[in-house]
Amino acid sequence: MNRIDRLKQEQRKLMKSAPSLRKILRTTISKYYLTCGYKKCWCHKGKKKHGPFIYLSYSEKGKTKMYFVPKELIKDVRKGVKNYNNLWEIIYKLCKINREILWLEKKKR
Ligand SMILES: [Zn+2]
Repeated sequence: MNRIDRLKQEQRKLMKSAPSLRKILRTTISKYYLTCGYKKCWCHKGKKKHGPFIYLSYSEKGKTKMYFVPKELIKDVRKGVKNYNNLWEIIYKLCKINREILWLEKKKR
């Protein structure tokens, strides 16, 4: 197998392994411990507070938007962030390969 074929094989493999665009999330996940609105609650007395509550935040035009993440969505949110980072890694690798293929194919002509 020559260099171009090997690169194209790697290219296909990377494209196949890319996560679906439907399942990516670009966000920061934060954990918060909060006091509640009930003044007599234990959370107002000691050091312990309610939580952790998971929030995700987006920066949009200089403003930060926060969304509370319900328990049943935490796993999907984490997975979405992982997919997003994974996709970028694949894009970087693909760009390197695509560049090399472009050069090699030009030389062949
Ligand atoms: Zn409380």
